[in-house]
Amino acid sequence: MKNIRNFCIIAHIDHGKSTLADRLLEFTGTVTQREMQAQLLDDMDLERERGITIKSHAIQMDYLFNDEKYTLNLIDTPGHVDFSYEVSRSIAACEGALLIVDAAQGIEAQTISNLFLALEHNLEIIPVINKIDLPGAMIEEVKDQVVDLIGIDPDDIVLASAKEGIGITDILEAIVNRVPAPKGDPEAPLQGLIFDSVFNSYRGIEVIFRVKNGSIRKGDKVKFMATGKEYEADEIGSLKLKKQPKDVIECGDVGYLISGIKVAKEVKVGDTITHVSKSSPQMIKGFEEVKPMVFAGIYPVDTTDFEELRECMEKLQLNDASLVWEPETSAALGFGFRCGFLGMLHMEIVQERLEREFDMTVITTVPSVKFLITNKRGDVIPVSAPSEMPDPNLIQKLEEPFINAQIITAAEYVGPIITLCMDKRGVIKNQVYLTSNRVELTFDIPLAEVVFDFFDKLKSISRGYASLDYSLSGYRESHLVKLDILLNGDPVDALSAIVHRDKAYDWGKKLCEKLKELLPRQQFEIAIQAAIGAKVIARETVRAMRKDVTAKCYGGDISRKRKLLEKQKKGKKRMRQIGSVEVPQEAFMAVLKIN
Ligand code: GDP
Ligand code: MG
Repeated sequence: MKNIRNFCIIAHIDHGKSTLADRLLEFTGTVTQREMQAQLLDDMDLERERGITIKSHAIQMDYLFNDEKYTLNLIDTPGHVDFSYEVSRSIAACEGALLIVDAAQGIEAQTISNLFLALEHNLEIIPVINKIDLPGAMIEEVKDQVVDLIGIDPDDIVLASAKEGIGITDILEAIVNRVPAPKGDPEAPLQGLIFDSVFNSYRGIEVIFRVKNGSIRKGDKVKFMATGKEYEADEIGSLKLKKQPKDVIECGDVGYLISGIKVAKEVKVGDTITHVSKSSPQMIKGFEEVKPMVFAGIYPVDTTDFEELRECMEKLQLNDASLVWEPETSAALGFGFRCGFLGMLHMEIVQERLEREFDMTVITTVPSVKFLITNKRGDVIPVSAPSEMPDPNLIQKLEEPFINAQIITAAEYVGPIITLCMDKRGVIKNQVYLTSNRVELTFDIPLAEVVFDFFDKLKSISRGYASLDYSLSGYRESHLVKLDILLNGDPVDALSAIVHRDKAYDWGKKLCEKLKELLPRQQFEIAIQAAIGAKVIARETVRAMRKDVTAKCYGGDISRKRKLLEKQKKGKKRMRQIGSVEVPQEAFMAVLKIN
């Protein structure tokens, strides 16, 4: 145990976390040059392209230092707020963290919330100034910033270039010398912290864990404490470049467990593994059930693809336990699924994976949070889709979730950020200067406002220089209404939304304008209306026009005419019929692009 080091890497996006991880693997001989592909840890295509780490992974390296062999477990963490619970569990599995700062950029906001999580768990922080090879490197300034932020001796900051391989040995030595060896009692009952799981289509779910107390042997009967499920440890081992089976994972070490688990939901991040006999009396603290925060409908573009979409959703869920769904029907869109996501990024990822990995094009409806409605009889009904909203006359009370949002930013962006939050019905609770130019703002704000496009707006007004972290603070009464969109009097269920009364007018007006741009002229006039109940609050009109696509071809070219007609026919397949009106697929996406 004294020669084990468990650590993670904290970095703002693009500061060089993946490149540094690659170098560490190379220097320790964990991978050979031949096996090395750039950014080895991000093994999903999507992760590579987006340049972000979506799920946590772990990898083990052996390192020889002063003739002693050390086991270094690098635990990778996802950086986005949607996955902050997973980050907190990965951090709980470590004793140390490398804090990477780009020498040309300096400290940026996205690192800071993870840094604080690391400090909360008493992790030893090793600051690394990376990219010192760049001509624009401001080594002294960035050193000052780091000293300002965490109050460390400037001599303890490691200077490195992950790209050029400079400072890598210093980093490895700092990990050995400064990160404490794990503490824990090898004789105590087994407590293993699950911080990740990986889906393997042949062998079932691989569970990734850190042994906090006791040890686990191959063949042991184990129990996952939160789910109460029991398994046999068919295979355990270490995560090198490939899985390396072992007979025992000792106290303090990181490993995987395979037990033929088929259902992703049985493996909960943060759960504790113990033995069936001589089991631990308590779970490792910090476990939470992950709950979906954002809900939206997902529909196939082509209605005949419903069964295929169902198969894809089932496959996706196998390796994404936080995705939940059930079948749903829409008058406008046909058969589809009501899905629950951790947040907007998670929703985008699911949509993108459906497209890339399964070649499914889907329509996603307006995202919603979960509201609580008390009817006149006093029953509390959860509502996470506009279609579930009862008649207003039957509603006694309507509540929506609020969050405590922490935003960390540079001083010059404080004004615009406060304006943005107020526009989103937020109330500022606190403002603290962390360093001379770094401010922490705390807001009380409805979750519904944050899930929509808040994060994008925050990033753009602060030029990426703001980080957001939030926790649910509870439900409170709110004046919400269901806003419907009607086309020539027919409601389009897929365009309805639950919005705050004060924002309904603005929302309705913008949506009608957007739809006017997107609806093609048809042979009759189309009235686009936004309404709350029977009351119309906004209206736009698409004028009638006889559409004759061949008008432009002055008689002659028959084959060109035919091509155009065929194209028009194809285009029609992507249309949905709402009453008498044909609606193109983009119109259903329009709601996502309001403002
Ligand atoms: P991540 O987002 O933190 O994982 O960052 P990456 O490792 O993907 O690096 C982002 C970009 O910075 C890539 O283009 C890297 O090649 C580049 N980069 C990483 N480390 C260095 C370095 O030490 N020097 C220079 N010049 N570029 C680097
Ligand atoms: Mg990366």
